[in-house]
Amino acid sequence: MSAGLNPAQQEAVNYLHGPCLVLAGAGSGKTRVITHKIGRLIQAGLEAKRIAAITFTNKAAAEMRERAKGLIGRPAKDVLICTFHALGVRMLRQEGAVLGLKPQFSILDSDDVTGILKDAGGTTDAATARQWQWAISLWKNMGLTAAQAEAQAKDDNERVTARIMARYEERLAAYQGVDFDDLIGLPLKLLRDHQEVREKWQAALGHVLVDEYQDTNATQYELLKLLVGARGRFTAVGDDDQSIYGWRGATLDNLKKLPVDYPQLKVVKLEQNYRSTSAILRAANNVIGPNPKLFQKTLFSELGEGEPVRVVDADHEEHEAERVVARIQSLRAGGLGKDWKDFAVLYRANHQAKVFEQALRKAQIPYKVSGGTSFFDRAEIRDLCAWLRLIVNNDDDPAFLRAITAPKRGIGHQTLQSLGVFAGKYKLSLFEALFSNSLPSALASRAIGSLHEFGRYVNDLEYRARHTTGAEDARTFLTDWLKDIAYEKHLYDGEDNEKVAAARWTNVLDFCDWMAQRCGGQIDDTAGVTTASEKKTLMEVAQTISLLSTISEREQEQNVVTLSTLHASKGLEWPHVMLVGVTEGMLPFKLGDEDGPAGRADGVMSEGILQRLQEERRLMYVGITRAQRSLAVSWTKRRKKGREMVQAQPSRFIAEMALEQSTVKEDPRAKLKALRAEFAQKAVDNAAAAAAAAAAGAA
Ligand code: ATP
Ligand code: MG
Repeated sequence: MSAGLNPAQQEAVNYLHGPCLVLAGAGSGKTRVITHKIGRLIQAGLEAKRIAAITFTNKAAAEMRERAKGLIGRPAKDVLICTFHALGVRMLRQEGAVLGLKPQFSILDSDDVTGILKDAGGTTDAATARQWQWAISLWKNMGLTAAQAEAQAKDDNERVTARIMARYEERLAAYQGVDFDDLIGLPLKLLRDHQEVREKWQAALGHVLVDEYQDTNATQYELLKLLVGARGRFTAVGDDDQSIYGWRGATLDNLKKLPVDYPQLKVVKLEQNYRSTSAILRAANNVIGPNPKLFQKTLFSELGEGEPVRVVDADHEEHEAERVVARIQSLRAGGLGKDWKDFAVLYRANHQAKVFEQALRKAQIPYKVSGGTSFFDRAEIRDLCAWLRLIVNNDDDPAFLRAITAPKRGIGHQTLQSLGVFAGKYKLSLFEALFSNSLPSALASRAIGSLHEFGRYVNDLEYRARHTTGAEDARTFLTDWLKDIAYEKHLYDGEDNEKVAAARWTNVLDFCDWMAQRCGGQIDDTAGVTTASEKKTLMEVAQTISLLSTISEREQEQNVVTLSTLHASKGLEWPHVMLVGVTEGMLPFKLGDEDGPAGRADGVMSEGILQRLQEERRLMYVGITRAQRSLAVSWTKRRKKGREMVQAQPSRFIAEMALEQSTVKEDPRAKLKALRAEFAQKAVDNAAAAAAAAAAGAA
């Protein structure tokens, strides 16, 4: 299992009988250590089913399973490779009875939780309930019970929330429901309070490996500790510079605590980066430089200097998206990226995906949105696309079924079912069947009337779409259509939460705007751009949309451009990465009430703001280090702030990236020896300092 591993990696892989921490920067082969160590443990005689490898996401688990299979073959399938939460589910299904939980307990999703909290807190306001949800989740992640939260509450607001938490917990128990945080909290309770369960699990697990250790929270730490027991047979790998889930309760204390709780801890550092070129790595090192160091580490790469990091400026988001698409096309044309899957576009927040999706669709480039819902996958947009597909092709049955029920128009399930049977019998499409003279007599005349009305309306729309040209007329068409089918009302009727309904309606309006723009022929300066394009009919534009819906089928091949949030990109890599929206106020995200460097009037940052800036900096570092061969960073001169366009500046991180404070030296090997000695000393110092701090804390 030592092939393809450097000496430091081998050291970590071969250390089998005690606690081991691999602490290293991005792309240094930490995840690779985990996969290889699974193989090594099996080779050394540990049964596969006694090994657990814990990843941060389900997707990472799937990928690790694949890699392990490639490396060790069949036994890999018996290794428990999953997230902490999935491990929690397994433990609760097996052992939950001890806590009074039935094996078929239900796992509540976030909406269920909001609902229960509304009830428990006596409010109908979802926003208030979500605030409680957030606070309660943080407490649970810190391992606090409702009573403990109340005892340490800082103000009335917190006291009230803690009392609501108590009622919420009672209800969960009554419903036999567990929330996401319970999937860690309850297994922890199980192990802590029930010796026989604890001993059973400790005996069952011979070694536990944890990837992305820097993003574990306090309860996960305790759970791990109880799972491995005093022998501490575990391997944790992580990078303090990539801790980006502080806002969700992850804590770097978990890194500091390890050498204290396990004095025999073996710390291995990896210094060589195998992922990125020196140019990319230098940008990454420069950005993370100003953050305080928990552990000193320096990365080098032997992949050569490579392409310089590009900074791309754009006037506004749409322009930025066009430039990004143009870059993808030109890299591909130049033979630098063969496959679509070689490219990733990464951004701070989910909502930023939309303009990039639209630009990629326009250029007919297949893509997937990971870590969020694609704009075009949203229910409301699918509804509208179904209508458009139906007017383009009346025989598109799936589109028919969706459009006829969005919104519902008094045509019931039974009617549609009879129509379907009839259509099947005579080999007609549903739309053809609807106009047949011999519609089954079983259908009530009222139902037939409604079907006819729908059919005539679709015909009418189709006619109008053929005769609507240019953006302005298209807008009128789209507005009339939405009014005709009362789509806004449909959204609000179908959604308890008004804010959600409003957001959906905004998506609908955005979509219509986008459609209208495609119809062209207009001087459009809504976003500060001036574009005059050739006029198209609405029908022509609708046709390209239905064509594009085949993109989702191509997605199956997975040879697609990835659009992802920075958070969801952790642990992954692509040859070509484009970091977009690297605009002050977006990344770093606005730090204070004001957008600027902000904080206080005297220019000194408050502690809270400073910490948030540090986390944003780590997020940028994660983004940069996803790139293997080329990296482009883009920002916009104007950006949306609410409904307005405001002037914007490039992110401070762009300037920092370029600082010529290279940590990548000409001859890395020469420096390496000195660094190793320095690291070894630092590790000892850090462990000693942490132990002293803990001792002081205990006293
Ligand atoms: P991140 O911090 O982003 O999670 P990581 O430290 O987990 O990164 P890996 O994903 O394990 O790094 O490795 C990065 C890349 O380098 C992968 O493509 C991996 O296959 C490759 N790699 C790692 N170690 C070696 C090695 N010793 N020889 C060759 N390639 C390696
Ligand atoms: Mg990794």
